Amino acid sequence: MRRIRKRKNSGLPVMWWFLLVMFIVCGLLVVVMWPRGENTLSDTEHVPGGAGVTQEANADLPPGWSSVPEAQKSDVIKNLGSRVLFFEKKDGMKVQVLEDDYVQRKITVTVGGLTSEQFSSEDWKCVVSGKYERGLEGVQNGMSGIMEDWEISVSPAQGGTYEATIVFSEQDIYECRVESDENYFFLDFYRPKELYASIVLVDAGHGAPDVGTSSADGVREKDLTLSYTLALKELADKQDKVKFYYTRLEDDRLNEDYSTDLHLRPEIANNLEADLFLSIHFNAHENKNYSGTQVYYNETQNEWTTFCSKDFAQALLDKVPDALGLKPFGIFPAAELYTVVKESAVPVALLETGYLSHTGDAAAVTDPALQKAAVQAIYDTLMECIEEMQNDGEN
Ligand SMILES: [Zn+2]
Repeated sequence: MRRIRKRKNSGLPVMWWFLLVMFIVCGLLVVVMWPRGENTLSDTEHVPGGAGVTQEANADLPPGWSSVPEAQKSDVIKNLGSRVLFFEKKDGMKVQVLEDDYVQRKITVTVGGLTSEQFSSEDWKCVVSGKYERGLEGVQNGMSGIMEDWEISVSPAQGGTYEATIVFSEQDIYECRVESDENYFFLDFYRPKELYASIVLVDAGHGAPDVGTSSADGVREKDLTLSYTLALKELADKQDKVKFYYTRLEDDRLNEDYSTDLHLRPEIANNLEADLFLSIHFNAHENKNYSGTQVYYNETQNEWTTFCSKDFAQALLDKVPDALGLKPFGIFPAAELYTVVKESAVPVALLETGYLSHTGDAAAVTDPALQKAAVQAIYDTLMECIEEMQNDGEN
């Protein structure tokens, strides 16, 4: 009897334990599944009109935007990138990117149609990597690692309005796209590779005080490299398959200091994550009989499974001398020879188009018709190499 009673008594606690465990499991499920975070408004933000933030509207908003007043009404916000600086839109306000100087990493944006001189970054907001920040300190914090600094100046403009000029100093190269909706102007910053599938950087060798070599009748290498680059740009501008960047499009060097200038050229290629980096040069030798086209490559890149620096150099040698009627001198490893080649982390070729010290070569590379043919050959090579790289990538 005792034993039976004992069994009866011990039956109850087992059931209670079971119920307790079920209760805890259900409680945990509720905590895990409960919607939170993005769907709550911050205490200090007031949504004009008192419109509640519905879950469906927020589901379409990228991370970080659900705390932004009026964001749920915007179709524009859904399509913005992950680094956005924005400010309130006022009547007559016009915002544009005035200059994108990717070489010096400065983007100049103008804000026109201001009614007063007051255009303070205190009012700015940003959403960067899903995090919403407000006010000068917040925005500086949010944009750290993207913008090193920005300068704002306001000056009087037409019709009694004012125009603000903002110069952003970039940590890396970004492209700024201006968007707007009913309430805001957005400065939407993208890394080049987020926008363009294929990128080529063309470097016109030398510039300004750095003349390079010269021909017997005074043709300077720095002028010739620029003239080839400008002609190449004309061809590149007619297509939109490949994005072309240039280290220079005028007679100038990238930095006053010669050494910094040389380091900067491959650094731009690396920062752009360029698919190809071409540096255009012309050769010279004390032996005036030296003649032909040479292309230098980075032999440390030859282990790459896809299209490498050496493949790029060979492709140029296959086409360029032929177009100029010059002999293909050869391709040469130069990882220890030239800074531009050595420091490039992307497929690089340094083209020594012909010898300015050789009478025949100098005549060929400066002849307008041959120059046109050579530039076409360079352009074709670049486009074919890009295509080859894309095919390699797909296989
Ligand atoms: Zn040179």
